[in-house]
Amino acid sequence: MIITVKKGYRIEHVADILKKISDLGGKAEVVNGHEQITISILGKTEKIQVTEFQSFAQIEYVFRVSKPFKLAEKRDQLQHSTVRVKGVEFSSENFIIMAGPCSVESEDQTLRIARAVKKAGANVLRGGVFKPRSSPYSFQGLGLEGLKILALAAKETGMPIISEAMSERDLNMMMDYVDIIQIGARNMQNFSFLKVLGTTNKPVLLKRGPSATIEEWLMSAEYILSGGNSQVMLCERGIRSFDSQYSRNVLDLGAVPILKSLTHLPVIVDPSHGTGYRNLVAPMALAGMASGADAIIVEVHDRPHEALSDGPQALLPSDFSELMVKVRKLATVMDRKLIAESVKPVAS
Ligand code: PEP
Ligand code: MN
Repeated sequence: MIITVKKGYRIEHVADILKKISDLGGKAEVVNGHEQITISILGKTEKIQVTEFQSFAQIEYVFRVSKPFKLAEKRDQLQHSTVRVKGVEFSSENFIIMAGPCSVESEDQTLRIARAVKKAGANVLRGGVFKPRSSPYSFQGLGLEGLKILALAAKETGMPIISEAMSERDLNMMMDYVDIIQIGARNMQNFSFLKVLGTTNKPVLLKRGPSATIEEWLMSAEYILSGGNSQVMLCERGIRSFDSQYSRNVLDLGAVPILKSLTHLPVIVDPSHGTGYRNLVAPMALAGMASGADAIIVEVHDRPHEALSDGPQALLPSDFSELMVKVRKLATVMDRKLIAESVKPVAS
């Protein structure tokens, strides 16, 4: 914590500030500059509130230097954590592709799409079985039946599974079926649920809330990390802004390099929910990769007009395959390894 003293005040005028710091358990280091006095408060300053100093007339400004997200914070520029899910490693060297339908709708639909995305080079299969829908009358997901379908798809393709949990009840049902638990945008600040996730040993993909600041998002990650689960990944999926006419959300790609400098956690981009429209997904997936993300998560459906959720933003398997050709080229430029490099693109 740093205190700057207003110009004109001399060292003898700050004795009461120094006493206050010592009363609060801090250690003060004073720099008696030519123009101005600056006081650094050292030691355990987490419990010292900035407001404690509000009433001192001599003080110009008080601010914290250390970040409130202690466990998510990157301590040096080379610190990157790796999240391992079966054979898939989310790290600063690899680039991971997660793809699949928004919702698991049937065994046939899920297996068809799983085979197509695997063939094109996806590493992880996505598919929702508990769906956060704006309307209670919309399709809510297949629940346990959907989990069993995902398990079949995992067995056949060998891909690990990512799926969303909205409650502790969902989570308990998912533990034996799902490899990565997705926490959707709407639950990013469900703190009691985040605490539960902290006690599990499952990797968690924490999506950004539609109006969450970067610090709020990192503090949500901190809830999971502080509970003892170190396998947390952050996923930018668009924030709500004033113009939703041509794009469902605003995919905040500036957040990617910001997060990369603030945290060691893997950063993922979701260009599907980030835009809401099929024609915008591939450009923003590539832009996400170029911005420094460690993975993308993309919705794919072979019959988007029949999809029970998010049809307008689903890539066709042929679109996904074309995107993968560009991902392969960009991976060279970005110095990233694709772990399914041996997979050849499918003909569209
Ligand atoms: C999803 O992944 O299908 C989903 C609902 O995501 P979000 O929480 O980002 O809206
Ligand atoms: Mn969706």
